[in-house]
Amino acid sequence: MKSVQRLLRSGSLSVRIAVLYSALFVLTFGALVAVATGGIERYAASKISEEMTANSKAFNKVLELESKRMATATEILAADFGFREAVALADEPTIASALVSLRNRLDVPNAFIMTLDGTTIGLRQRLRAEDADSVWNALDEGSRSGLVKIGGEYHGVVASPVEAPNLFGWLVVGKPFNKSEMQNLAQLAPINLTAKVLDARSLPKTLAAKAGEQVELMESGERILYRASPLPSLSASEKPTLLLRHSLSEALLAYRPITWILTALAMVGLAIIVSAGWLLAKGITRPIARLEEAARQISLGERHKVAVNSTDEIGRLGDSFNEMVDAIVQREDKISHIALHDALTDLPNRKYFRDQLDIGLKRAGEGDLIAVFYLDLDNFKSVNDTLGHPVGDALLKEVTERMTSVLDGHLIARLGGDEFAVLVDNVDSVDAITMIAERLEKSFSDSFHVEGHLMPTTTSIGIAVAPHDGSKSDMLMKNADLALYRAKQEGKGQYHYFEQEMDELARKRRETEIDLKLAIEQGQFELYYQPLFNTEQQRINGFEALIRWHHPERGLVQPIDFIPLAEETGLIIQIGEWVIKEACRQAASWPDHIRVAVNLSPVQFRTKGLQSILIQALTQSGLPPQRLELEITESFLIENVAETLKSLHSLHDMGVRVALDDFGTGYSSLSYLRSFPFDKIKIDRSFVVDIMDDKGSAAIIQAITGLAAALGMETLAEGVEQDEQVEMLLKNGCNNIQGYLLSRPVPITEVEALIESLSGDGRGRKVA
Ligand code: C2E
Ligand code: CA
Ligand code: CA
Repeated sequence: MKSVQRLLRSGSLSVRIAVLYSALFVLTFGALVAVATGGIERYAASKISEEMTANSKAFNKVLELESKRMATATEILAADFGFREAVALADEPTIASALVSLRNRLDVPNAFIMTLDGTTIGLRQRLRAEDADSVWNALDEGSRSGLVKIGGEYHGVVASPVEAPNLFGWLVVGKPFNKSEMQNLAQLAPINLTAKVLDARSLPKTLAAKAGEQVELMESGERILYRASPLPSLSASEKPTLLLRHSLSEALLAYRPITWILTALAMVGLAIIVSAGWLLAKGITRPIARLEEAARQISLGERHKVAVNSTDEIGRLGDSFNEMVDAIVQREDKISHIALHDALTDLPNRKYFRDQLDIGLKRAGEGDLIAVFYLDLDNFKSVNDTLGHPVGDALLKEVTERMTSVLDGHLIARLGGDEFAVLVDNVDSVDAITMIAERLEKSFSDSFHVEGHLMPTTTSIGIAVAPHDGSKSDMLMKNADLALYRAKQEGKGQYHYFEQEMDELARKRRETEIDLKLAIEQGQFELYYQPLFNTEQQRINGFEALIRWHHPERGLVQPIDFIPLAEETGLIIQIGEWVIKEACRQAASWPDHIRVAVNLSPVQFRTKGLQSILIQALTQSGLPPQRLELEITESFLIENVAETLKSLHSLHDMGVRVALDDFGTGYSSLSYLRSFPFDKIKIDRSFVVDIMDDKGSAAIIQAITGLAAALGMETLAEGVEQDEQVEMLLKNGCNNIQGYLLSRPVPITEVEALIESLSGDGRGRKVA
């Protein structure tokens, strides 16, 4: 039972349904068969019992008729005149022949005469004395028929008086109720009866108590029907009883086939129902199993739908399941699209590009070329800086559209910023690749119209071709990038194939560029400060902020090794912003008379945001604008002079000081000194180095200081390393000095001590 329960709980739904269904039908059918067979048996038993009753009545009737027949024949003979005469005359031969003929006629063994004097005539068997007495007693009492034992066997006896003319005796006829006789009688009955006459005293008690009734007894597993009916007795001492016996079990055997047929039918029905139940269960559970399988597939990442071919609950479940699968598929597609595409242009991203390149490289047969193009827009940074990001974004979209239209089918990806990549496969010659590169370059020859602006935009392209330039995607992409770098160096709107011999320098620069991006993110920069000393006041009146880069592997990197690259790549904009803010923040805590000077790059200067960055830096730090000095070089004044002057004026209007750096290295013309009111002129180190032995240098310095003084500008000499140089500078009218003589650039922690040691109150050292 437990194991059945376990089976039901753990087994499949179809097994459970089928088992329950079958069990139900087995019970119903079992009950039906049991009731039916029970009913049949009861019916049969009652039928048999009825038959038995009828038969026992018939039996009695036969006995009665037999006794009547015997009585009639006996009476006729007893009344026969000739016979009576023979009796009267004691004519023994005649009597004997009459008795013989009577015996023969009645087919009985005994026909005899009992004379009143106690003798018998013609009796062939012995009659016991007590039986003879009983017979006489019965005759005396008027009984004329009944059973009596003759020779130890019950006989049905009939007696008629023989009068000749007075009562002479009794003519008695006796038929034995022995085994064979009873068998003959029983054979008359249509049922299988056994009949026996016996004394009531030798009956079993149960039967004796229920004389005249039908009694069922079990005899060694057999059901037996008995009926004991008393028979008329001629002898008072005897109680003859007719015992009928009929085997009910045997009779019921006749009904067995019906039970068998019924059971067989039930089994067949059950088999049909169980298989129907199994099919039904399968019918119900098959779609569920399919759903289960599909759900499992989904969990494994497959996109598995189920076939729905019904409209019932299961069909609707299938529909909902399929809808769910659709939703999952949609969401997955969306997620993987987002993961593999750029949000702005909806172009594939770097990861997708690399995956496709990997696939293409794997598939490529012998002689197939695969080219990777790296593109970088030539003047995108300035678009972004001058017109703002929204315009930059719009330009990128336009560029995407145009490239898509000329690159029929080749994969285009956006790698970030204004960098794109193109995968050119299925080509068999470098010429074909060159044609595509030229087509791409040409597509940029028309300006782009973006939000009302007409923008001439070109692109540089670097090309690496597999298998020659690398057979792995990473290698190809890196080499395309290096080729791009080279293309950029060679001028705008160019494409350049990767060359294995590309100089180590290019590689290094590229690496530095990548590292710089990381340095900005991770804040690897620090500002060093070099004092600006006023010889008249004998004190520091400012510090120049000079950037240092703590490279994780290369250690402290000097500006000369990364500023030019930062300017080229535009990274200087972010770096410069940090410098301005950091310098203002640190200078804010210095004494009021000490300024901070910050170097500006022309790239930085051309961006729109510079002014607002300065305002932010000043307000956030609380540094007064006149304590901030911006150092710009002559190169600022080469391009776009009018525009630059306008910007310088507006900076000046903010109250910020402007110094002209590295004076004397660029243009020899001093004319621009008149067009802009610089606050300070910084005379380049090269003049200071020469000042001692080159008369010309001293003369130039004197000319500069004279002009500056006339225009109301301060002068400062850079790179002062010797006391003698200070003397010469003073002689030529230069009052401010900067250089290793006073101090090398130092970290912020040393600034305070420097201010102390170089103060003019006598505590510090005296300069010149
Ligand atoms: P610079 O503006 O001319 O700065 C002066 C440079 O001369 C500094 O080099 C300084 O260390 C060096 N120097 C000062 N006194 C002497 C001396 O007596 N003898 C010698 N031989 N050199 C001296 P540094 O710090 O290596 O900077 C180099 C250049 O990098 C700077 O030249 C400037 O153009 C640029 N730079 C430095 N920091 C920044 C920055 O934050 N932004 C920008 N845009 N440029 C920066
Ligand atoms: Ca400077
Ligand atoms: Ca300088």
